Amino acid sequence: MPTPTRRSDGLNGISLPFPDLELDAEDEALVAAARAVIEAHHRPFWHTVAAAIRSTDGRVWTGVHLGATVGRLAVCAEPIALGRAILEGDGSMAVGVAVRHRKPEEGPGRPDVVSPCGACRDLLLDYAPDALVIVPGPAGAPVKRPLRAMLPLPYRR
Ligand SMILES: [Zn+2]
Repeated sequence: MPTPTRRSDGLNGISLPFPDLELDAEDEALVAAARAVIEAHHRPFWHTVAAAIRSTDGRVWTGVHLGATVGRLAVCAEPIALGRAILEGDGSMAVGVAVRHRKPEEGPGRPDVVSPCGACRDLLLDYAPDALVIVPGPAGAPVKRPLRAMLPLPYRR
């Protein structure tokens, strides 16, 4: 299991801007796995986001966001998926993605790929500093970016 580590250079070793990487078939399958979770388990407010993580050995772990009556107690989908990867797999994360169920006012359609929130970027960086994350691309289609490039100047203890 990888030991949480952080680099001390400000940009985590990445030169910005980093070129976006295209999704391959495995990445498309990862997005599909996340979409399948939120389509099966969506409950307005309680479960609106799902995540999928592919470990370095190619296995896929999914998670669903947990809404909470006390809003700040809500838990994102990514840590749920990461916990499963740790408990059921080798704890590694090569690629991750999150998708959000559409809101009623957005009309019908597939769950959209969304960027991980700042807290998840910070958390995932501890456990998988070399991971890639699938995010909405500038042209609309999802792209992959290094997690490191998404959290420059991270907090240091
Ligand atoms: Zn989050």
